[in-house]
Amino acid sequence: MLAIAGSDSSGGAGLSRDVEAIAAFGLRTAIAVTAVTVQTHQQVLTVEAMPPALVADQMRTALEANPIGAIKIGMLAAKGTIDAVASVLRAHANVPVVLDPVLAASSGGALLEPDAVAVLTHDLMPLCRLITPNLQELALLTGSRSVGSEEEVLRQGRILLDAGAPAVLVKGGHGSGKWSTDILLRPDSEPVRFEALRLNRQLRGTGCMLASAIAALLALDATVEESVRRAKQFVRDNISRAE
Ligand code: PLP
Repeated sequence: MLAIAGSDSSGGAGLSRDVEAIAAFGLRTAIAVTAVTVQTHQQVLTVEAMPPALVADQMRTALEANPIGAIKIGMLAAKGTIDAVASVLRAHANVPVVLDPVLAASSGGALLEPDAVAVLTHDLMPLCRLITPNLQELALLTGSRSVGSEEEVLRQGRILLDAGAPAVLVKGGHGSGKWSTDILLRPDSEPVRFEALRLNRQLRGTGCMLASAIAALLALDATVEESVRRAKQFVRDNISRAE
């Protein structure tokens, strides 16, 4: 697998979570570091974006040095990085890509420049197999004020599909209520719901883990739907073990 993402010095999210999740499915991770972040679990102190050409070079050599079964993309930090990543992906169109559209840390610190959202949606999403926004990310990506209701999720998800994303998994973990429901949206099929009883615990990096686990399962030839089902269970098991 190839993980294109940022480091998190606290170990709560980012690349270290990606490598852990991917290893749990028996795969090795080649990495392209997009940014170095200094974080505690409470705040983002520093974000140092890597030069876009350095990110592209890491991707090219990772893809040359190893047979890559899938790519997971997390934090991208800047518009120039998105352009660089997209241009390398265009040369490897057969490798499935899962994009976790990381906009901010749970603590609130920004992890993507605000003016990069349009490029992320229009240039990168069409090159991916699956996009995995949470409810807040979906609203921000689609310029919507309203977060959370199922009607809004379907409407906002449709905006990303219309922009060229082939499939969108909207994660309900930041919602409320007894059930945490993720919804898989694709252009020509009915929405597929993945329901689980909400767990009352906080664990950082669950978005990183989910996208990495889905990508690992795609690399192992599972379908998108099966990958989502098994990855969700994997993340749930991790949350239930958290202190
Ligand atoms: N830091 C980095 C480098 C990340 O890639 C991510 C998410 O993907 C986060 C922080 C956000 O994680 P959390 O929401 O757990 O703060």
